[in-house]
Amino acid sequence: MRLVGGAPMTTHRGSCLCRSVTFEVDGPINGVGSCHCSKCRKVSGTGGNAQFIVRAGRFRWTAGGDGGTRFTLPDGWGPTRCGKCGSPIPASFDGGERIWVPAGLMDDDLGTDFKMHIFCGSRADWDRESPAAQHYDEDPR
Ligand SMILES: [Zn+2]
Ligand SMILES: [Zn+2]
Repeated sequence: MRLVGGAPMTTHRGSCLCRSVTFEVDGPINGVGSCHCSKCRKVSGTGGNAQFIVRAGRFRWTAGGDGGTRFTLPDGWGPTRCGKCGSPIPASFDGGERIWVPAGLMDDDLGTDFKMHIFCGSRADWDRESPAAQHYDEDPR
């Protein structure tokens, strides 16, 4: 933790699966959102794309920030992925003002929780919690 303008500033570290892309985000993080649209389901391979958005001034690459590969649909939408391991990596979506950060990349606790779910109308029918769902701290097999 360091002090910025007299206030404590927590730095949150993130990385891709192979760790060739690493970055830091200065906190606080004001909530994580999940997008359940059909595009986000495809690029994440799961029910929702957990992410948060920060101003670019609070984000910095610590390694590999130039190593991403961007896939773009005809409408301009698309994920940027680590060129080595394929993890989605942070990217700007508005010309550099704000950075979209996949929340699952974070190595440090964020001190927040889900504040928003969007495109719930596109949610997969299985993407809900059964009352009988069992939770384990690790794979029980
Ligand atoms: Zn990687
Ligand atoms: Zn989406």
